[in-house]
Amino acid sequence: MNFTNFGFDSRLMEGIDASGYEEATPVQQQVIPHILSGKDIIASAQTGTGKTAAFLLPLINKIITSSHDQHTINALVIVPTRELAVQIAQHLEGLSYFTNISSIAVYGGGDGNAFVQEKKALSMGADIVVCTPGKMMAHIKMGYVKLDGLKYLVLDEADRMLDMGFFDDIMFIIKHLPPKRQNLLFSATMPHKIRELARKILHQPEEVNISISKPPEKIIQEAFMVYDTQKIPLVLHLLKKRDFKMVLIFCSSKISVKQLTRELKRHKIPADEIHSDLDQDKREDVLIQFKSGRLPVLVATDILSRGIDIDNIDLVINFDVPHDGEDYVHRIGRTARAAAEGTAYTFVSVKEQRKFMSIEKLLGKPVPKAMVPEEFGEAPSYNPASSAGRAGTGNGGARPKRFKNNSFGKKQ
Ligand code: AMP
Repeated sequence: MNFTNFGFDSRLMEGIDASGYEEATPVQQQVIPHILSGKDIIASAQTGTGKTAAFLLPLINKIITSSHDQHTINALVIVPTRELAVQIAQHLEGLSYFTNISSIAVYGGGDGNAFVQEKKALSMGADIVVCTPGKMMAHIKMGYVKLDGLKYLVLDEADRMLDMGFFDDIMFIIKHLPPKRQNLLFSATMPHKIRELARKILHQPEEVNISISKPPEKIIQEAFMVYDTQKIPLVLHLLKKRDFKMVLIFCSSKISVKQLTRELKRHKIPADEIHSDLDQDKREDVLIQFKSGRLPVLVATDILSRGIDIDNIDLVINFDVPHDGEDYVHRIGRTARAAAEGTAYTFVSVKEQRKFMSIEKLLGKPVPKAMVPEEFGEAPSYNPASSAGRAGTGNGGARPKRFKNNSFGKKQ
């Protein structure tokens, strides 16, 4: 479907053309008409489906074609992370370039200057504010935020926000909004708590379901059964053995991110890290370096597993098994975006085998197992059902296996 079918204002159409969009994506085709007609929405759509433009385009169109109050916030978009706030604000800037829309991203971690700017915009009014919950709540508590004319509320990646413990902050913000408004809720998954949230804040919503909870077929997935001490040597081996241009490595904790980055640097592999201990400037700087291709290896916590739009990553390594199946799909979905192909390796320690098995269940099929090279010594075999994965203890099938073949990519 072409964008002309939505009857958008010509200034917005110019922004769409300039962004290079030709056809509306399925989520855009389904969501945009509902938003234009004033309906509340609950949509299960993951990142990569074009969901951001699916809500930004109709919001921009509504704001620029109606007589709206310039001295209030018209639309509030609440998102879980600073990175996503920055990304959506940039997206918004591109799409609204030929309009007179005013917007600002409000997120934690900025300096005093950012705070002054945010305060100014929030007290004088901005058409669209993209914010993280904690920072927005802090501003609201200070009493100057102009929300009395707000017409639209968007909750993006709502499941992620609830997982991060933002429920109370979100409800605090919502209490300060006019009751008559249009609400749009986007979530990759629809667990019970999201339904509850929806019941609390949405009014007779239209439901749209575009979820892809299976990873794209074009991603080559492999899992290595390893002991914890083999993980860092295996990363080094893989990075040296194959010619990957852009590698994103996920670790489950900040400590392992820091430790692994240190080791990579010690082995002269150009790598850097991103996690919540870094200040905002540093995080943005690292992301820019990575996106531009100047930094080939980025080690990250799950902060980057969702919503971050980086093309051309050819390898994702799960240094630790992700928390659940959805996280796995999100993490490995960072590779093979657009037309490119990608590879995703997951390192599974003995104690992570059960968690990995439940991920395979969600995927509906086993992830092929790759061999650890012989020079690494014994490696555990995959036997998740036995004694919480305590491999190598002499109980038959769980005995450690010595692999004779040290060629990579061969399946067990
Ligand atoms: P999102 O799911 O919002 O993270 O979007 C994923 C990527 O798709 C972003 O780079 C968008 O700029 C891009 N995109 C969104 N809508 C379209 C479209 N209709 N045509 C081409 N690219 C799009």
